[in-house]
Amino acid sequence: MRVIENLKRISQQINEACEKVNRKMEEVTLIAVTKYVSIERAQEAFNAGITNLGENRDEGLLEKWEVLQDKPIWHYIGSLQTRKVKNIIDKVEYIHSLDRVSLAEEINKRANKKIKCLVQVNVSGEESKHGLSLKEAIPFIESLAKFENIVVDGLMTMAPYTDDEQILRDCFRKLRELRDQVQTMQLESAPCENLSMGMSNDFALAIEEGATMIRIGTALVGEDG
Ligand SMILES: *Cc1c(COP(=O)(O)O)cnc(C)c1O
Repeated sequence: MRVIENLKRISQQINEACEKVNRKMEEVTLIAVTKYVSIERAQEAFNAGITNLGENRDEGLLEKWEVLQDKPIWHYIGSLQTRKVKNIIDKVEYIHSLDRVSLAEEINKRANKKIKCLVQVNVSGEESKHGLSLKEAIPFIESLAKFENIVVDGLMTMAPYTDDEQILRDCFRKLRELRDQVQTMQLESAPCENLSMGMSNDFALAIEEGATMIRIGTALVGEDG
């Protein structure tokens, strides 16, 4: 399937989810996750009009960056090893996976400008997942205020792998409530506007629960293009 056809279908689904809860489609940024696919397929996605691209490995990001350069808005979405920060820092606009102080220190040190970071939260508490617990998140966000190159632009989570709509909704709702709580703190270093949640299987629910960024790989660009 061509990306443009997948995009048409997904846009329709985004639109339906938004209408259900009276949100505007423009509130939701679609990030095409190109981690499984070739440079050509990533280029096809960009040419189809998707300006936000996400990668979860430095190698994948760099090879696609060689071709597309800074035309797309690049999102680093996966767990990030501290020693790899220097490879990606001047290429990305957003880092969705800030989950520890040592990583914040390295980002702060290597960046030449403010980097929009999303704090990754492990809402479901599954051991296999990265991220801070709901309880740890606020003290962590407060501790980031001293890093002048880090802006806490939002929160990110990965929902559990399940079809159970209630479990998914609970997960997304808890992240939204945490975001609202951070916003009431009015920290200059943490405007915390974005909610990065929702992937191929659960993005419609995530939008209904308030997602402002959805990260879609399989359903949009496929897994082996
Ligand atoms: C791979 C990945 C996605 C996209 O997953 P799909 O199910 O293929 O849409 C989204 N977010 C993160 C963090 C990922 O690693």
